[in-house]
Amino acid sequence: MSKQTSDLSDLFYETLKDIYFAEKQILSALPEMAENAQSDELRTAFETHRDETRGQIERLDQIFELIGKPTQEKTCVAIVGMIDESKEVMEDFADTNALDAGILAAAQAVEHYEISRYGTLKTWAQQLGLTDVVGLLEDTLMEEKKTDELLSKLASADVNAKAA
Ligand code: FE
Ligand code: FE
Ligand code: FE
Repeated sequence: MSKQTSDLSDLFYETLKDIYFAEKQILSALPEMAENAQSDELRTAFETHRDETRGQIERLDQIFELIGKPTQEKTCVAIVGMIDESKEVMEDFADTNALDAGILAAAQAVEHYEISRYGTLKTWAQQLGLTDVVGLLEDTLMEEKKTDELLSKLASADVNAKAA
């Protein structure tokens, strides 16, 4: 392995640990977001995505195995901050008509972070010639994008109308 390849491979591994930590945080944050959601569609969207998130964590487990490195997590300060912000908005807007709009926006920030991470990881996996890994990352990336699109749809259809 050239020095360049091994550096990228290290970076890939470190970023994998970051998203592994993030997914676990998201898995534990989603039930509270679902509980707080006022609209049935938004609650269902969070519940569906919680199940998907479990599968995404399993895919990451598979990826660690495929690259032959120990499964590890590394604190992602970005996700910690985003989840803190979601808790803040749930508290501050608890009894208002803007609660769903606030939770939805917080959830979309999380999806955008994940889309960014998985997009990057997929590109690096391609550069590293990790074909099986690319497929797994692509599957998760599609789920994150689909979730983001659903949230956008709910935002324009319902939640923002209620907040107005
Ligand atoms: Fe995810
Ligand atoms: Fe991070
Ligand atoms: Fe997600």
